[in-house]
Amino acid sequence: GVIWYDGKMVNWRDATTHVLTHTLHYGMGVFEGVRAYKTDKGTAIFRLQEHTDRLFRSAHILQMKMPFTKEEMMEAQKAAVRENNLESAYMRPMAFYGAEAMGISAKTLSTHVIVAAWKWGAYMGQEALDNGIRVKTSSFSRHHVNITMCKAKANGNYMNSILAHQEAAQDGYEEALLLDVDGFVAEGSGENIFIVRNGKLYTPDLTSALEGITRDTIVQLAAEIGLTVIEKRITRDEVYGADEAFFTGTAAEVTPIRELDRRAIGAGTAGPITKQLQKMYFDVVTGKSAK
Ligand code: PLP
Repeated sequence: GVIWYDGKMVNWRDATTHVLTHTLHYGMGVFEGVRAYKTDKGTAIFRLQEHTDRLFRSAHILQMKMPFTKEEMMEAQKAAVRENNLESAYMRPMAFYGAEAMGISAKTLSTHVIVAAWKWGAYMGQEALDNGIRVKTSSFSRHHVNITMCKAKANGNYMNSILAHQEAAQDGYEEALLLDVDGFVAEGSGENIFIVRNGKLYTPDLTSALEGITRDTIVQLAAEIGLTVIEKRITRDEVYGADEAFFTGTAAEVTPIRELDRRAIGAGTAGPITKQLQKMYFDVVTGKSAK
């Protein structure tokens, strides 16, 4: 396969960088996770504009100068899918600082941009999509830098996501739920969360979570079927006592949560509203229904 690298297609194994790459040392960089789906009219990248807008917004927040325009980055993403002959794909655009100088200052550094694309199925497996996952509340919270800068999908924001996911996996769970520093529910390691109670949908406000594009899609789909969506601070016990719960994300799509901290959620299986929204989501991304 090939990877789009600073405006050129390079072979997968040649898409490398120097060990003194600034971002490798300090974690200052921005990225996106995007999916392309097979539809009746060919392969379609889901919400390409929104993902590209968020990539540039993340870069703006970190004051990283992007050496390409939004239009060029959208073309790059299309090219990465096309040149690899992918019918469906997960795509990873990323911007990172070069290796011209060491030290904290990034002033003199060049910015490099890549787009990789590969075939990727269900992030947590088909069983997870069908029947839901078991989740553990993490001992790692969405800490300060994360909270004040969580609108940026920045490499450096993922350290506690990785620690949280690692901890959950070691304890036999599929995913972690991170709380914010005040103890309210924030998000998964790479997903936003929703709960269902008495026929209404609740999701944490965006104080301490990434502005998920899948989250936004679910809010729109819920409106279509007349479901009320309430954005508010959510506590851990509200999740324990929910009728249903699910994660949303480009990678995780709509993944039901059947258990949190050894408490079954609802009937302990994927709930009916979750399943309905999941089906609507797959219909939208595969072009079977309009957004
Ligand atoms: N929260 C975090 C921390 C993420 O990394 C992601 C993944 O992008 C999400 C939420 C979900 O966002 P989206 O639906 O835009 O993929």
